[in-house]
Amino acid sequence: MKNIFRNALSVMAGRAEKNRSIPRMSSSDPAIMASDALAVTDRLFYETSGALLGRGEAERLTSGALEGMDDGELFLEYRETESISLENGVIRSASFDTSSGFGLRSVLGEESGFAHSDEISESALRRASETVQLVRAGRSGQQAAAPRSTNTQLYPGSNPMDGTEFARRAAVLQEIDAYARAADARVVQVMASLNTEWQAVQILRADGGRAADLRPLVRLNVSVVVEKDGRRESGSHGFGGRYEVARLLDPAAWKGAADEALRMALVLLEAKPAPAGEMEVVLGSGWPGILLHEAVGHGLEGDFNRKGTSAFAGLVGQRVASPGVTVVDDGTLPGRRGSLTVDDEGTPSGRTVMIEDGILTGFIQDRQNARLMGVRPTGNGRRQSYAYPPLPRMTNTLMQGGSATTEEMIGSVKRGLYAVHFGGGQVDITSGKFVFSASEAYLIEDGKVTVPVKGATLIGNGPDAMTKVSMIGSDVALDPGIGTCGKAGQGVPVGVGQPTLKMTGLTVGGTA
Ligand SMILES: [Zn+2]
Repeated sequence: MKNIFRNALSVMAGRAEKNRSIPRMSSSDPAIMASDALAVTDRLFYETSGALLGRGEAERLTSGALEGMDDGELFLEYRETESISLENGVIRSASFDTSSGFGLRSVLGEESGFAHSDEISESALRRASETVQLVRAGRSGQQAAAPRSTNTQLYPGSNPMDGTEFARRAAVLQEIDAYARAADARVVQVMASLNTEWQAVQILRADGGRAADLRPLVRLNVSVVVEKDGRRESGSHGFGGRYEVARLLDPAAWKGAADEALRMALVLLEAKPAPAGEMEVVLGSGWPGILLHEAVGHGLEGDFNRKGTSAFAGLVGQRVASPGVTVVDDGTLPGRRGSLTVDDEGTPSGRTVMIEDGILTGFIQDRQNARLMGVRPTGNGRRQSYAYPPLPRMTNTLMQGGSATTEEMIGSVKRGLYAVHFGGGQVDITSGKFVFSASEAYLIEDGKVTVPVKGATLIGNGPDAMTKVSMIGSDVALDPGIGTCGKAGQGVPVGVGQPTLKMTGLTVGGTA
């Protein structure tokens, strides 16, 4: 999960609106009020004035393209994105972008064919169809069973911008700036950004089976820089999820984010260089779950295990973590950033137990890897957009709680690190090696939290790290809704979570 604030930092002037024939959808649309995702996406892709593809043609061409294949689908996508960012008290950039297109994929054995276009038209789909048939090369497969359908609704289907004006969305950033500067005289810089997205997808299969999903996604981020005696430090806090943007505009919500960013920056003003060496580490609850995401989650994705390149390959049924460690991927949590009603292959998302009481129990799967491994898809087939084929990806990945209290864990450490918040991390899937930088951490000395430290990194090996978990708290928390996971050049929103944990003998890279 590199570059977690990628979107907030890369807010640029938007591309010109690409498909003017698609009207902006709003909640006055009765179809959205009824939350009927299929009806809404039918209107978007086939029935709008100027539509260049009819539903009948889409079905006919998809069936033809996938004839003789094991699997595949037509993925249609429409997306609206708004990004507003403020720096130095002024709106530095504001962009609104709409994009739409399709990706057509054929799957035969371990091979797949993929073609995409930003033009949803019969002629473009016909050309794509010719391309994806090339994987057949005289062979023939057997069409895999279609995903079951679902009526679950994990988030509102309407556009999250509905019900608020652009002026109001921009004004909140000014209010955050004024609030943070008034809160403390040491604040010298405030940055804030608001990102809103609405994605509508329809998935069409060779047998005519269809699934659709309407996905809102919002995030607010606040960063502050403080200065004291010539020393400058920064702190940031973000939050969001799959819900309407109005929730981010509530003063109680954004003030909390600004307060937290300021608190972190002020802590760092007093921080000493971090020590280095092997020591006991207590990890905070919530966002520090990115260690779990990196150290364990990626290694439990079906593709790496089918190909045998994961450090966990072939270890199902074996102990890979300390007793008490149970890790799940759960795409069914209402309103969460990583949640999905159906994945990008049309499979309803699920709750997959990957490690149970320290024993490896299974992987997260898309359809192709599941079929090749002889297991069921888990609803984890995800893609960044229509321009990419799906891969097995995490949704919300979390560790279940135990029974220890934070006081017990801190109290049991003679000399160690209490890592409360992380900036980001990286992992090498094959070796399992990971590196994380702690953005908020403290020394633990003789069972007590003492001074804040700066520049601490946690270095380790995924499978190995999970065997070093020695105490598990009961305070399971999810992150506030900020994560974007990168894999094979594709970014998708994810959630992470865990209780407070104690790990024994972790390597800390410090600056002292
Ligand atoms: Zn990741």
